[in-house]
Amino acid sequence: MSNRHDVRLLCGACGIPPEVGSETLRDRTATCPSCGRSDSYGAVLREAGRYLADRIVCAEIARPPRAGDVRLPPTSGDEAGFRWVAA
Ligand SMILES: [Zn+2]
Repeated sequence: MSNRHDVRLLCGACGIPPEVGSETLRDRTATCPSCGRSDSYGAVLREAGRYLADRIVCAEIARPPRAGDVRLPPTSGDEAGFRWVAA
């Protein structure tokens, strides 16, 4: 049972869960059935992890005004540029 680690991976563009290949963990790939976006499962997890961390940071720290530490996320329209997100 992995209740804590049970996140739902979603395509960043479509917001639907990708189809995960049934190969070994190392070679596993995730493919969005809607737009066809495909990445290695590890890359998808990393991206989704970044997305989650970003949301957590944004929620806990309400953007402290630090002049020297400005790191603007690439807000280019689609979900702040994340290819894969998690819910
Ligand atoms: Zn998609």
